[in-house]
Amino acid sequence: MEKAATERAEDYLEVIYDLISKKGYARIVEIAERLNVRPPTVTEMIKKLSEKGLLVHEKYRGFTLTEEGERIAKAVQRRHETIANFLMILGVDKEIAEQDACKMEHDLHPMTLERFTKFVEFVQNAPQDPEWLEHFEHYVKTGEHKCKVSDLLSSLK
Ligand code: MN
Repeated sequence: MEKAATERAEDYLEVIYDLISKKGYARIVEIAERLNVRPPTVTEMIKKLSEKGLLVHEKYRGFTLTEEGERIAKAVQRRHETIANFLMILGVDKEIAEQDACKMEHDLHPMTLERFTKFVEFVQNAPQDPEWLEHFEHYVKTGEHKCKVSDLLSSLK
């Protein structure tokens, strides 16, 4: 598949996987809503995905993902979460972070993703909120460093 088509397929798998894990099933109309496309477009993609062996359409059970389809969906979901968390740590609003995560999740170099993951882990596993993160928030709001070295030195005099 060409790059744009692969990205599109990943978006569908991600949404279908999310709907199935939350509700137990995925309907064409809901997929269309989530991806902001028309139902016939979804039907077309469903056909392609099942031809590629990523999805099975069963008459009464609706769609299920094949093992490979689920593997891809989970990988996309993990990338999405990492990127969204990273952006939220930087102070991006949740809604925007989610939107941008969906744009970025297909196309980052593995090293960038790996560093995002480490960074998110690093912050989340900090015993207390890391102080430097507060400094960063302060800097974003005021454009100033909270604690200048020069102030610190003069207070020692
Ligand atoms: Mn996404």
